[in-house]
Amino acid sequence: MLDVAIVGGGLCGLTLAHSLQAAGQVDWRLFESRPRLGGRVLTVKAQDGTPIDLGATWFWPSTQPAMTRLVQDLGLHSVEQIDDGRVLHLHDPNRTPEPVALTAQLTPALEASDPAQPGFVHGGARRVVGGMAAVIDAIARPLPEARLRLDHQVEAIMDRGDHVELHVRHGDALYAMYARRVVLALPPRVAMASVRFDPPLDDDLQSAMQATPTWMATAAKAGYAYRQAFWRDKGLTGNAWVTHAQAMLAEVFDACGPEAGDQTYPGAALAGFAALSSHDRTRFTLGLSLLLESQVVQLFGQEAADPALLVEQVWHDWATEPQTCTPTDVAEESWGGGHPSYGDPLLAEAHWQNKLFLGGSETARHGGGYLEGALSATARLRRQLLSLRTTSATAEQAHGATA
Ligand SMILES: Cc1cc2nc3c(=O)[nH]c(=O)nc-3n(C[C@H](O)[C@H](O)[C@H](O)COP(=O)(O)OP(=O)(O)OC[C@H]3O[C@@H](n4cnc5c(N)ncnc54)[C@H](O)[C@@H]3O)c2cc1C
Repeated sequence: MLDVAIVGGGLCGLTLAHSLQAAGQVDWRLFESRPRLGGRVLTVKAQDGTPIDLGATWFWPSTQPAMTRLVQDLGLHSVEQIDDGRVLHLHDPNRTPEPVALTAQLTPALEASDPAQPGFVHGGARRVVGGMAAVIDAIARPLPEARLRLDHQVEAIMDRGDHVELHVRHGDALYAMYARRVVLALPPRVAMASVRFDPPLDDDLQSAMQATPTWMATAAKAGYAYRQAFWRDKGLTGNAWVTHAQAMLAEVFDACGPEAGDQTYPGAALAGFAALSSHDRTRFTLGLSLLLESQVVQLFGQEAADPALLVEQVWHDWATEPQTCTPTDVAEESWGGGHPSYGDPLLAEAHWQNKLFLGGSETARHGGGYLEGALSATARLRRQLLSLRTTSATAEQAHGATA
């Protein structure tokens, strides 16, 4: 019988596994339904090795202290997001984009002479050198490989009194695992959609889980690796906003590594968020990449599609992955409407007499939805699980003394 079964190998599940491993004498396993770790952290390497983040990209030292400390503790380097307060703004598909300075409200300044505000576009964001997956790799590296079960989808969890039974699918095989406690380190809505609970969870808990949108669940991102950061040669930051109704990419940014421009290293890149809704994206098959490319050309010039410069275009649509996005998220297109408030206290409580815990970024009040929220959820879970371990050890000692 396992001590702890962790469901989900994103930042929350992995950092929890790391903590349990460090605490010692905890028999844990982590079950991840995808064939890779990282969850909403996904860095792909273009053909020339340029890393491009298609999931989480930035951390903000001013508001994400745990994430900032983690990057430092792992010995990773980071670069500041280029942001001198200027963006290209394309508000009319029949015009050329205009370089504009942004106001404090993140809208173009009315007066062309208004000074650009450095740091306004990305709020002091930093990117991890090598991509955000470098964080995931560094956390996973020291963990015993045999405890990390990739391609293992948890389909059901049953309360069996003094333990839980999990039904886990691996390919065609469905098998049972037994654990004293189980932690669902995944978005609450995904837990509701992908796991059967027996007995069913309390109604108020189900409502709280269903009412918690998964941050960026319906997002899609495009990335472009180039042999050179040609936009910098034109005096452009790489930041662009497209606000007209036919936009393909709503927001584009420089995604270069620190060595971009040095002929001996790969690393020049642009990336951007899709403007089309997840529903509209499903109508495209072949045409999508052409339209995306034409958007980048309209913003940055013909070089953006020049085969001598363009190494590769990459794309990821999170709305198509049930491990991240549920039909409710699609129906609400939640990420476009601002950042939801997270941290319903019910989600942070222990359930099934301390056998069932919810984790994942969306259960956190601080930084909920973001990488910081995943770490904040881990800190809470670590406290809950390790205090239960202390309590049962004390009870065993007391029992031994009276026996
Ligand atoms: C496009 C995009 C851009 C983002 N940009 C940023 C950013 O710049 N900065 C920032 O701070 N945050 C950003 N985020 C949010 C950030 O990625 C998340 O907050 C963070 O990665 C959440 O980690 P998590 O471990 O809580 O959840 P997840 O990463 O979602 O991990 C959950 C894991 O559970 C697995 N799983 C699901 N169901 C099951 C099951 N039944 N059995 C087994 N495994 C299961 C999933 O496959 C997944 O690996 C972005 C997210 C997206 C999608």
